[in-house]
Amino acid sequence: MTSVPSPPRAWLPQLLEAFAARKTPALARVVSLVENQSPGFEEVLAALHSRTGRARRIGLTGPPGAGKSTLASRLIEYYRTAGLEVGVLAVDPTSPFSGGALLGDRIRMEDVALDPGVFIRSLATRGSLGGISAATRAVADVLDAFGFDIVLIETVGVGQSELEIARIADSTVVVLVPESGDSIQVLKAGLMEIADIYVVNKADRPGADRLRNDIQAMLAMRRGQVLSNVPAHHGVALARMGTARGAVPASPEAGGESWTPPVLRAVAVRGEGTEAIARALDKHFEYLRSTGELQKRRQHRLRDQVRDAVEHRIRSRFWNDAEVTNFVDSLLPAIERGETSPYAVADELLARGVRAFVRSEK
Ligand code: GDP
Repeated sequence: MTSVPSPPRAWLPQLLEAFAARKTPALARVVSLVENQSPGFEEVLAALHSRTGRARRIGLTGPPGAGKSTLASRLIEYYRTAGLEVGVLAVDPTSPFSGGALLGDRIRMEDVALDPGVFIRSLATRGSLGGISAATRAVADVLDAFGFDIVLIETVGVGQSELEIARIADSTVVVLVPESGDSIQVLKAGLMEIADIYVVNKADRPGADRLRNDIQAMLAMRRGQVLSNVPAHHGVALARMGTARGAVPASPEAGGESWTPPVLRAVAVRGEGTEAIARALDKHFEYLRSTGELQKRRQHRLRDQVRDAVEHRIRSRFWNDAEVTNFVDSLLPAIERGETSPYAVADELLARGVRAFVRSEK
């Protein structure tokens, strides 16, 4: 099998130079290139890779209307005051028309959006190869490589994609509100697995304390379950350790040190609670760093990236290869006659394809 050589991209060095010089138009162009997976996007990502790994990636998720955008604006202001630059990605995997749906968010953030130390982008990728989480991860890398200290990833909704997107962040903040009576359902839907920090927003409304207590009770229950899974001869010691530190092991393998998500109150419209959230985020980041969890999370991300790259190559090169098509076509009559099966052909194709890729990549 032969592979089509990539055309030389004359514009690439110039674009990368402008990006390295921190020109915003170059950043916007690279983000679009990556988001749309336009020709050359992998070369750009490969060139930027060595610059990544410096930003702190913070995820904000929760049901629509919980106050995520309002809180994001507050956090941006907080970090800007601290002299940090912030890149923001607003992602709506549930809506096929994210661009429009997120316009509201942009308007709410317009006071911070005029600040040159802030870059806000809505991700409206749909149906792209690798899906929205691959696009989000790649664009987060771009923002990281550009030199933003903080990359804020805001996701709308509580579906499977949000859970995937949480893997892109170092720390995930789950924002809930008293009036969404389904909060507990939300927690059951898997948000408990991803929350590093809970924020009960709209604490100016009735029911905030009850929600906070509910979440704390659920967290305690979960800890109890974890401890009951620990073998008896370790159980007592671990339980005591947990009480002493105010933290319990996430798993028996965790080596004793773990993170108990704090449940914080906020009134985002008035800026109340922002500092406590930022401090909790600092603490969580320090926890990640000191326990090696940060490296682990980042390694997971790199593995995901390799997987995305492989999938992209398979789809774009494999199926455009005339030899692959001819091979499949030549076997169709045999499949029809029942002499072989689509699965046997797939195995044969993969065996040949992998060899061809190894050859063509050299
Ligand atoms: P998102 O959909 O999660 O991004 O939520 P928004 O940030 O757009 O907020 C939804 C609505 O709730 C807006 O009208 C906000 O002004 C309002 N809101 C946000 N935070 C608070 C709060 O702490 N208290 C009250 N009462 N309203 C809030």
